[in-house]
Amino acid sequence: MKIAVIGMGASGASLASFLSAKEGLEISIFEPALSRKNHLWGFWDDGSPSFEAARNCRQHSWDSLAFVHGEQRHQVDVAKSPYSVVNSRDFIQSCKKGLSESTRINRESVISLYENPREAIVKTGEREESFDLVFDSRPPKFPTNTMQQHFLGRWVEMSSPVFDPETATLMDFRPRPEEPFHFIYVLPVSRTRALIESTCYSPATREENWYRRRIHDYLQVYCEDYEILEEESGQIPLHSHSSSQGKRIKSIGLRSGTLRASSGYAFAQNLIQSQKIAEQVFESVDLSIPDSCLPMEKWMDEVMLRLIRQRPEQAIEAMMAVPGALDGQDFTEFMTGYSKARTRLSLMWGLPKAPMISAALGW
Ligand SMILES: Cc1cc2nc3c(=O)[nH]c(=O)nc-3n(C[C@H](O)[C@H](O)[C@H](O)COP(=O)(O)OP(=O)(O)OC[C@H]3O[C@@H](n4cnc5c(N)ncnc54)[C@H](O)[C@@H]3O)c2cc1C
Repeated sequence: MKIAVIGMGASGASLASFLSAKEGLEISIFEPALSRKNHLWGFWDDGSPSFEAARNCRQHSWDSLAFVHGEQRHQVDVAKSPYSVVNSRDFIQSCKKGLSESTRINRESVISLYENPREAIVKTGEREESFDLVFDSRPPKFPTNTMQQHFLGRWVEMSSPVFDPETATLMDFRPRPEEPFHFIYVLPVSRTRALIESTCYSPATREENWYRRRIHDYLQVYCEDYEILEEESGQIPLHSHSSSQGKRIKSIGLRSGTLRASSGYAFAQNLIQSQKIAEQVFESVDLSIPDSCLPMEKWMDEVMLRLIRQRPEQAIEAMMAVPGALDGQDFTEFMTGYSKARTRLSLMWGLPKAPMISAALGW
């Protein structure tokens, strides 16, 4: 069977490496970019085989997560599924190592795709080629004014030991700049070294110095002297896009709607989806692209996103209520997209009712 994988990002690279486990598949990857912007991908490692390539190049992991707002602080024990990060370039390399020898990587940009009952055709600037199956992970287009998670992070070395390397702070809402939904994300890898990210949710990004100032102000609370080692930045459109697909051409990754729209997480969802797709190909069953999370979780994400857009102050309280309502195990399952009904009920019970109901009804 001839299979094309378009794009070698998180979903394309992981799918190609899972498919490589079976002999006899002829896999061609189309990826024009020779390198990609480097940044971290975070996920909760529950030991699943889907995460093996990521586990092999994991940069760091934390057993404990903190969420802070004013005087309020929630600490969640996630030791059973530690919060782990990988460097995006290391991950792609790790997947490349898993590719079968016959896998071809074509440095070509795909211009169009079409299918007929017998084949799927991939058209690049130079040529056309036919395949039995095509998996397309080209980034989707988003409507203008889509809410984005935009951030800039700095790796810093402090002059004195100030961090707790066992605890990652996913959201610290204490700095209150003019952006209505802003938080600091802290990933300490030692007592003195950490990635500090200034993150906002809004449709428009800020100029880079804006985030740098937020990081500087935040660090002043710890100590005045620090050295900047590296910087990373990015934007994630918070839109759970899902493009139409045919019998032989299937969307994967963000293009298939793997993004958790209220948190910007998609990495674990992409890897789980890739493994499930490969299993279906191996079993030669009619392909159906698995959802990245339960419909109820998708709906809850959309309600939360609406609240962030309409009433950011109340959304911060609602965000803080999530780790307050769930224990570590339930929290990681919810974030990864396969929570139990009991967990979703606890969460709905724990969230502030009036703002969530207004957001759900679109008031
Ligand atoms: C800066 C940043 C940080 C993120 N951090 C996290 C995180 O910590 N945890 C998390 O869960 N999620 C995170 N995400 C969200 C999500 O996991 C990533 O966006 C992830 O890369 C999505 O994977 P993907 O394969 O769908 O898309 P991508 O990784 O973007 O891959 C798409 C690929 O398609 C290629 N391509 C584009 N056009 C063409 C073409 N015409 N022909 C062929 N190939 C083409 C691109 O070059 C690219 O390699 C982050 C996103 C960003 C942008």
